[in-house]
Amino acid sequence: AAEKTESTGGKIVMVTNAEFPPYEYHENDTIVGIDADIARAVAEQMGVELEIQDMAFDSLIPAIQSGKADFAAAGMTVNEDRLKNVDFTDTYAQAAQVIIVKTDSPIASPDDLTGKKIGVQTGTTGDIYADDIENAEVQRFNKGMEAVMALNQGKIDAVIIDREPAKVFVKENEGLKILDEAFTEEEYAIAVKKGNTELLEKMNAAIKELKESGELQKIVDKYITA
Ligand code: GLN
Repeated sequence: AAEKTESTGGKIVMVTNAEFPPYEYHENDTIVGIDADIARAVAEQMGVELEIQDMAFDSLIPAIQSGKADFAAAGMTVNEDRLKNVDFTDTYAQAAQVIIVKTDSPIASPDDLTGKKIGVQTGTTGDIYADDIENAEVQRFNKGMEAVMALNQGKIDAVIIDREPAKVFVKENEGLKILDEAFTEEEYAIAVKKGNTELLEKMNAAIKELKESGELQKIVDKYITA
């Protein structure tokens, strides 16, 4: 009889949108970042090989639903609407939606966004919140960085985006700042197909282990310097 190895079997496919530093971005030919490192550590604990595929943010949940991918790790905020379509692991990061404006902008708080031109990344929570702002004209971009460029060029008045990528984009572009007052507080988790409790439980166990061993904090510290 053929010898059975104790390998739990093969490969796990992650999808992400690698336009979201420091959580996921391209470095040379690889996708690196906090989510990529967490996923690698989780896969290692599960004894499976990890494959990472890059796609538009609003394609991630459909890719999981169709079974094209096993999970999405993409700085994805847990919200009620998404919970109807996917299951989420335990959360692994605190996050926030913040507002980026030009340094000389009259916009000083979220209340000043009424009637303004606001740039967001399509399908993100920033997109959802911007939609609720009275009389705002929402411009949607495929990449957060494209929204920031439009702001830089004076085509829009503000960008609503997650805090950590906001910090990276503001550092890379002169003349921009992040408002002190955040728009919302949120939490990130990994999304799996609805009902895939086997994977969900394995991932939760791995995340718990990463938290308790301090490995998760090490990964964060590698990419975010205070
Ligand atoms: N946290 C935001 C969301 O879940 C943005 C995530 C992203 O652009 N990768 O919608």
